[in-house]
Amino acid sequence: MKWGLIGASNIAEGRMIQAFRDNGHEVISVQSGGRTRAEAFAAKNDIPLATTEIGALLDTPDLDAVYISSTNEKHFSQAMAASAAGKHVLCEKPLSMTVADAVTMVRAAEDAGVIFATNHHLRNAGSHRAIRDKIRLGVIGEVLSARVFHAVFLPQALQGWRIDNPGAGGGVILDIVVHDADTLRFHLDEDPAEVVAMTSTGRLGAGVEDSVMSVWTMPSGVQVQTHESFTHAHAGTGIEFHGTEGSIIARGVMTQNPGGELLLRRGNETTPIPFEQEDLYLRGVRAFGDAVAGKGRPAADGRDGIASLAVALAVAEAARTGRRTAVDYGDQ
Ligand code: NDP
Repeated sequence: MKWGLIGASNIAEGRMIQAFRDNGHEVISVQSGGRTRAEAFAAKNDIPLATTEIGALLDTPDLDAVYISSTNEKHFSQAMAASAAGKHVLCEKPLSMTVADAVTMVRAAEDAGVIFATNHHLRNAGSHRAIRDKIRLGVIGEVLSARVFHAVFLPQALQGWRIDNPGAGGGVILDIVVHDADTLRFHLDEDPAEVVAMTSTGRLGAGVEDSVMSVWTMPSGVQVQTHESFTHAHAGTGIEFHGTEGSIIARGVMTQNPGGELLLRRGNETTPIPFEQEDLYLRGVRAFGDAVAGKGRPAADGRDGIASLAVALAVAEAARTGRRTAVDYGDQ
């Protein structure tokens, strides 16, 4: 497959270009807002064509698909243009700034007959696939509750629009809650119904929240508790599922890298759960390529991206109003 990059971003350079190439795909063009930046990015990453115009990128000869990793407010118009040009779309999370726009993007791709996927990487982790298998096999019985620990320290290099630009989709909710929403939907196979939340800001965030804690109810009655932050240097990440027959305790698994530790606990007995180690982005791109070839579906599709955004926006609304908020999944 031949890819064009929309956005000369950190994630494209740090993770995705390698994932495309390791899958045997090619990256043939890049679009960035600034010419110097586009050209420097292309030269550094060995990409033949650099442009500032999305139209020129979409006209790249033999282009099959685009990977959108611009700032969040740009995803909508860029994805719409790509679908209209008949290109498959792998879009970064959050898909857009509103659920209505996300629904429009996903419908446009469906109408154009192109594959549309959301780059929720955590579903591709061996750790998370192992957790999901155990839950589905009933190893912990009926799930009662889940807890997510996703409070990290935002690296200096990423302390730009994420911490001071609400117009670009900054803030920890659109950055990390979307991933946690996707991961919980993946494990529990249901969509959060209602949320309550409180945010804090001021350590790193200016005009956007840099920490949030929330509680969600699932239609089955499962209760979820989450903590996302940009300001916690020492907390470590994790996820736990507590059931009637046991608990799954996972540590170091809410990350971009494979690894971490999974334990099954029953009473005083604790057993390690083995899992596969594979690059998360490599696996995600493979699933995308397979879907384009008519084999299966992307790891996280457009509907998954709409749902994760809907949960995040409900958390933001609940924090803003101080009220219990129903998640609005839009008119799908
Ligand atoms: P970056 O800040 O690195 O890049 C985003 C955009 O900002 C670029 O497309 C570029 O715009 C502009 N930009 C970046 N660096 C500079 C610079 N030095 N000077 C001027 N402009 C610059 O974003 P991230 O890579 O951190 O995130 C991009 C997207 O990917 C977001 O939607 C984010 O949510 C998502 N993401 C997803 C992850 C995942 O694991 N799924 C992980 C990290 C991010 P332009 O190209 O137009 O010039």
